[in-house]
Amino acid sequence: MECRGKTFSTKCWIARKYSDVFHSSNYIPRWWRVLQRDLTNVVHIQLARANGANIEENCRVLRFEKDRDGSRILVHTSRGTFRCRRVVITAGGWTNQVLESLDVKLPITVTHEQATFVATPNLKDFSKERFPLFTYLSPKYLYYGFPIHGNTGVKLGMTASGKQILPDSLPCEPDREREQVALDFLKENIPKVCWPLW
Ligand SMILES: Cc1cc2nc3c(=O)[nH]c(=O)nc-3n(C[C@H](O)[C@H](O)[C@H](O)COP(=O)(O)OP(=O)(O)OC[C@H]3O[C@@H](n4cnc5c(N)ncnc54)[C@H](O)[C@@H]3O)c2cc1C
Repeated sequence: MECRGKTFSTKCWIARKYSDVFHSSNYIPRWWRVLQRDLTNVVHIQLARANGANIEENCRVLRFEKDRDGSRILVHTSRGTFRCRRVVITAGGWTNQVLESLDVKLPITVTHEQATFVATPNLKDFSKERFPLFTYLSPKYLYYGFPIHGNTGVKLGMTASGKQILPDSLPCEPDREREQVALDFLKENIPKVCWPLW
């Protein structure tokens, strides 16, 4: 470990605090909180409704067009046409498909990402009270990991490094090669999470 000044002491403190689980000092614990995804979605929807929003479920946007005098945007959907003053698009990897009718293309690359969940017999060590969310930058991948939350496994992901795909062609099968990279990373850096598999 090479670190100096303030970084040195912070890194060393972190390394000491988690030395029983992390076998490397190249990671950064994050003081982020884990939120319950479904619950936060429900809260957002309820708050939006309380502020007058109308939620249209299972409603596919087909195309946009300006109305005759150009003051409004017509959003043609699978559930009819909506006339809007403003449109906010949050279509993730599908953004360019949705924008096609406006002849706008954003520089977005869609990749196949996946998370690996590892069952551990050392449940306490990887509970939210003991184990931090962390990121770890290796020369090839930015790894990130979560403590146990909502199941019996630790979650490990590698961000924005998967194969390029079309948004509608997401493979159903996991990428075994990348799964192995994730397991090798855990074996080397956080072996306790995997014990007694190795
Ligand atoms: C493997 C993996 C693991 C992740 N794990 C975490 C995690 O643990 N915690 C975390 O915070 N984040 C996680 N993320 C990131 C998180 O999923 C994204 O940041 C988040 O989903 C982005 O939300 P969004 O609403 O911008 O886009 P999306 O969630 O992609 O939503 C876009 C929506 O647009 C809809 N859409 C597409 N086309 C149309 C159309 N024509 N008409 C109407 N609707 C349309 C889609 O159906 C979709 O529902 C993970 C991502 C991946 C890939």
